[in-house]
Amino acid sequence: MRCPACRAELLVAERDGLELDWCPFCRGLWLDSGELEAITATLGVRFAPLIGPREPGTRPCPRCRKTMDSLALRGQPPLRLDVCPEGHGWWFDAGELSALSARRGLGTAEDVVSFLGERLRRAP
Ligand SMILES: [Zn+2]
Ligand SMILES: [Zn+2]
Repeated sequence: MRCPACRAELLVAERDGLELDWCPFCRGLWLDSGELEAITATLGVRFAPLIGPREPGTRPCPRCRKTMDSLALRGQPPLRLDVCPEGHGWWFDAGELSALSARRGLGTAEDVVSFLGERLRRAP
């Protein structure tokens, strides 16, 4: 699969039964929708309440090449993720991950992101 942001070939890191596709150049992270659900279920947190309005985006889904939607996440600072309109998964830019983890008052998102960050740091 190719990185939707910079078109580099994504690398696969397998950790604890999770398959993470990440970009070695821009450090973005692709999560299949089931993977995000597995992560949030493991943590016992709910990601859905954070999801805000979506708009047409510009980047191609690495799975199906359809243009992904740009999805707003609630809270400050405002953040946008890319999500496949067919439900294949989610794209986190590296800056989005760190911005999320820097937020205060969004415990559930921080839990998710610190979990992901831990996985990313251990990636080869
Ligand atoms: Zn990239
Ligand atoms: Zn797709």
